[in-house]
Amino acid sequence: MTSLLALGPDALADFVVERGGQRFHAKALRRNVVARGVLDYEAMTDLPASLRARLAEDLPIFAGRLDAVSEARDGTRKLLLSFPRGRSAEDRLAVETVHIPPHKPLDGDGDPRGATLCVSSQAGCPVGCPFCASGLLGLERNLEHHEILEQFLRGRDLGALRRVVVMGIGEPLLNLENLERALDAVRDEMGLGARKITVSTVGFPGRLRRLAESSPRFQLAISLHTPFQEERDHLVPAMAGVPVEDVLAAGDHWFETTGREVTYEYVLLGGVNDTPRHAEALTDRLRGRRCGVNLIPYNPTPELPYARPTSGDPEAFQEFLRGRGVVATIRWSRGLDGAAACGQLRLDAAGR
Ligand code: SF4
Repeated sequence: MTSLLALGPDALADFVVERGGQRFHAKALRRNVVARGVLDYEAMTDLPASLRARLAEDLPIFAGRLDAVSEARDGTRKLLLSFPRGRSAEDRLAVETVHIPPHKPLDGDGDPRGATLCVSSQAGCPVGCPFCASGLLGLERNLEHHEILEQFLRGRDLGALRRVVVMGIGEPLLNLENLERALDAVRDEMGLGARKITVSTVGFPGRLRRLAESSPRFQLAISLHTPFQEERDHLVPAMAGVPVEDVLAAGDHWFETTGREVTYEYVLLGGVNDTPRHAEALTDRLRGRRCGVNLIPYNPTPELPYARPTSGDPEAFQEFLRGRGVVATIRWSRGLDGAAACGQLRLDAAGR
């Protein structure tokens, strides 16, 4: 069975007409769901009741199913969604979406600040980083554009969004066509500005250059994780053999083309890549470049042999970078009691 989000404008109009509606009802339907966030046909009172009843029987709004929600004490909610893998309704693959509320519900002006949403671009991930639960199961398939958009709509249904990051399961640049189609809908129909959307990648240089031409308005994050070539070949296996300098050059090209600075993501793995030697070499790589570094203390995954950095080490690493002119922030994980590591919930669901 298809879903409302999966149908393009003409196919949706045909579907509506076959069920007694008018072609213009298709536009109202899409507007209700994507722009206004109405996820129940019954509540779409601008459509005839008879049409709503038919659609409720014949056309689910989403292709996905919500299988589990894990909620942390800080209000972070991780959704485990499943999408059809094949023709059987029970043969499904799992994807995670995370809704992270603001630290404070209201800012100084009294405006709701909204949440950050982290979405996945693939079911499983072909990159295979050894510290990441998502890499353990490998790639199952690319997500369709509507399956990516569905995550945004389900996330917004949990609370207003301030910012979204394509930083969940998968490598976005390996599913670029579907991702760009979904993000266009997020920007143009949901009304979330491109500046509030960050795409995070391990940095395939050729694909990054193409992205700079096709989607220059989004924010870009590149997962670097180490300044050393040999170590990066190990920590980011899909990039083995791609010179770190080429990745950084693609980041420079992004800035020159788009005018937007790249953020380099750096997961701090205790005792692995958080040493003074790493901080020094990273500084040498980045000094003089228009960019920032986002340090992310590792969120341990029970199945994996990596540890969170020792208390105080992330701050020392940050200070070293800052002291030598490299802009650096620390992103402390949220939702540590809610299976917060990327891919953790999905791994649990797979019985691993
Ligand atoms: S860290 Fe990101 S790129 Fe690496 S395996 Fe996990 S999801 Fe894929």
